[in-house]
Amino acid sequence: MRCPFCRHADSRVVDSREADEGQAIRRRRSCTSCGKRFTTVEEPVLAVLKRSGVTEPFSRDKVVRGVARACQGRPVDPDALAQLAHRVEETVRAGGTAEVPSQEVGMAILGPLRELDEVAYLRFASVYRNFSSVADFEAEIADLRAAGPAPGSGVPTPDGVVGGGGDHAGEPAGARTGARTGD
Ligand SMILES: [Zn+2]
Repeated sequence: MRCPFCRHADSRVVDSREADEGQAIRRRRSCTSCGKRFTTVEEPVLAVLKRSGVTEPFSRDKVVRGVARACQGRPVDPDALAQLAHRVEETVRAGGTAEVPSQEVGMAILGPLRELDEVAYLRFASVYRNFSSVADFEAEIADLRAAGPAPGSGVPTPDGVVGGGGDHAGEPAGARTGARTGD
């Protein structure tokens, strides 16, 4: 690990401790050249399995970019997007597996995005869940109304995220998302 201050190639670990309830290790390092200290975090790589069968590392930036498209022209600030991506990562990691299907990442985005901005949520959901008619929008809007005002900054739960807080008339969300093509 190169020293971020002087670029020296070697550093010494001075302290290691668990972080994020054991999901990561945080190490305090000291540069053997300039003596400055810095911290590294080691955590398992979370792989996302795309529909094409290819896996790629989970990327918060990618979540932000995807959601930012749906937020164009909406009053959503970049900090809120970064926070959303963080929540998505927490939700996906909480599943406890090292590899998750890309649909699951999309599902984890829907809940927090709905709280953030309903218009952006509808845009994202229409692409992600492959809305094919005005009726799909109507059903989703009826659902939003039934759910009432956004609960605000609630703690994300797997239930809230996967279900999106709504009951899609008993329709299994997986069946719909599975039918969609492309990434
Ligand atoms: Zn150094």
